[in-house]
Amino acid sequence: MRLRTHVVVGAAIGLWAGGPIGGALGAFSGMIPDVDLDVGSVARGARWLGAIGIAGGLLGGYLLGSGAIAGLSMAGGFLLLMLIRLPHRGPTHSLTLAIIWGMLGWLWLRDPALTGAWTAGYLSHLFLDALTPQGVPWLWPLSGGRLRLARWRTGSLWDHAILILGGLMGLGWAGWRLLG
Ligand SMILES: [Zn+2]
Repeated sequence: MRLRTHVVVGAAIGLWAGGPIGGALGAFSGMIPDVDLDVGSVARGARWLGAIGIAGGLLGGYLLGSGAIAGLSMAGGFLLLMLIRLPHRGPTHSLTLAIIWGMLGWLWLRDPALTGAWTAGYLSHLFLDALTPQGVPWLWPLSGGRLRLARWRTGSLWDHAILILGGLMGLGWAGWRLLG
């Protein structure tokens, strides 16, 4: 599915799970699996973040005299740069990575509703891509089998319909909150 579809659906699910902050987290998580695309804005952003992590880690660690800061941000930077190199629709489109992403969210957010929004955003990406002919390797690394729930092409009428549906879900949440 297209990036904008992932963002809108992730935001809508995040809104329902965790309010406006949840919506922002869901939209962000909804983009993450496509970090494995070596073109496109997500990968470009990740490449920048990776480079900034490595350079900032070196500089910050040196200025603060902290090996931990240098090590952690450099490791994060290298990890991001490695993720971009993975084959597209590979490990980042699996339940294993979704669980790791959810655990990272819990460590960071420490809030059930927000962690729910964070994780649901990621899962919504896997679900949407499972509706396309390429499917997703959902059981990686246990199995290379791909989950295909439908054969709706990226950019097709279905892609547009899901985007609109996601937008309506988000508006529905806002209306429900305003009226309630
Ligand atoms: Zn994807």
